[in-house]
Amino acid sequence: MSGERAGTGGTADIEGLRGRLAGEIVVPGDGDWDAARQAWNLAVDQHPVAVVFPEVAEDVAAVVEVAGAHGLKVAPQGTGHSAAPMGPLEGTILVKTSRMRDVVIDAPATRARVQAGVLWGDVVPAAAEHGLAALAGSAKDVGVVGYTLGGGIGWLARRHGLACSGVLAAEAVTGDGRIVRADGDSEPDLFWALRGGGGSFAIVTALEFALYPVAEVYAGALYWPIERAAEVLHAWRELVAAAPDELTSLGRLMQFPPMPEVPEPFRGRAFALVEAAYCGPEAEGALLLQPLRELGPEMDTLATMSAEGLGELHMDPPQPVPFAGDGTLLSELPAEAVEALVGVAGAGSGSPLVSVEVRHLGGALATASPSNGALPSIDAGFALYAVGIATNPEVKADVEAHAARTQDALAPWSTGRSFLNFTERRADPSEFFDAATYARLRRVKAGYDPQDVIRGNHSIPPA
Ligand SMILES: Cc1cc2nc3c(=O)[nH]c(=O)nc-3n(C[C@H](O)[C@H](O)[C@H](O)COP(=O)(O)OP(=O)(O)OC[C@H]3O[C@@H](n4cnc5c(N)ncnc54)[C@H](O)[C@@H]3O)c2cc1C
Repeated sequence: MSGERAGTGGTADIEGLRGRLAGEIVVPGDGDWDAARQAWNLAVDQHPVAVVFPEVAEDVAAVVEVAGAHGLKVAPQGTGHSAAPMGPLEGTILVKTSRMRDVVIDAPATRARVQAGVLWGDVVPAAAEHGLAALAGSAKDVGVVGYTLGGGIGWLARRHGLACSGVLAAEAVTGDGRIVRADGDSEPDLFWALRGGGGSFAIVTALEFALYPVAEVYAGALYWPIERAAEVLHAWRELVAAAPDELTSLGRLMQFPPMPEVPEPFRGRAFALVEAAYCGPEAEGALLLQPLRELGPEMDTLATMSAEGLGELHMDPPQPVPFAGDGTLLSELPAEAVEALVGVAGAGSGSPLVSVEVRHLGGALATASPSNGALPSIDAGFALYAVGIATNPEVKADVEAHAARTQDALAPWSTGRSFLNFTERRADPSEFFDAATYARLRRVKAGYDPQDVIRGNHSIPPA
């Protein structure tokens, strides 16, 4: 090893971790340093003090102990899909959980236990073998833990709610170095905070959550040329106003880049589309979506598929990309909001964004149960998310500016709150919660991480 070394105090102890870990530690100057520090979002340049790849909870506890003793922070990362809000990670040990990949499906109990580095693409097929579905998000390579701690809105969301509400237990290392289990019987404050409060409170080493008996869904996408965006989005808006909870859908404007990896019918073209998943028989779903079909889409992929097939529906990139994006929550989507959206991101707008989507919320997402956690429900009708490819700093700035412009255009309908998982800028975390919840989260943080050792993508400071 040679070259750049950790500049912050405690370098010798960081090196000393090497002998204590079942996993691996990589420091600046090691041959695999650049690969180790890379996040899924290739536009983010992370420069932590060291990167640790734990294999057991004790590895994580050792890192937390050393960091705490030397005034360093510890940032857990499953994939780095949400690396952007954390920035360069100065004075921080990055804990990458990618080697902790065990998945256990307990089909009779309809529950799963996964280790911290498990991706949705690891769990969904394993559950599908038993006719069960997880509350997975749109992308197969998003980490289960990061997604779930931030809330988790997936294709079954209006029927079965937020992923965080389905959590049954978490095994975790607290900021004061203890290995704990948080569930309905133990560590109630931590169990509450982890369910929607994000990754500030403890480093999760394993998560247990409910599975649902959804073997098949009627799902797919309908595509029209982007010039028809207003007509399509108005029709979708009217359709979802009376949709049952079994239907989760989104309206979207997409400009596919002219890149060879984009399949032929989409490459370099722009579309208005509706993506939908119906938890019920095909005949019912088809009848529900018939008003959209009557608009004569150019492509129509609606079909009965296994719940596993939902991982392809949103066409998320299958490999790491450089991107920038951001989102907000909308109370409603009246006709004026559709016009504003089409004006800022539709044909002729000059938008550099690859995708601007509006997800329909409500249904089970709007229903809070007293047993839920810090994000018991979402008090908004729709979630807006805008994203673009950020190949260099100038393009990134342009994408960020247009994502902000898109939010500004829809500001009259904003709830004033954001959804943690769709927030890619460095935000004030109080914007995700009501005042009482945020105050309680800060007290929980003070209880479990009084020295503020753990850094999340949207870190909540201790009270
Ligand atoms: C292509 C794409 C598609 C997406 N689709 C959806 C979607 O359909 N629905 C949705 O709700 N969100 C979606 N998201 C947002 C996604 O859920 C968040 O970016 C989430 O934070 C990703 O989790 P991760 O573990 O993959 O990312 P990471 O960047 O690795 O983690 C994000 C944060 O999660 C916390 N965290 C991760 N691991 C741990 C751990 N072991 N212990 C404690 N905290 C931890 C940390 O605070 C970390 O900073 C999508 C994002 C992308 C880029």
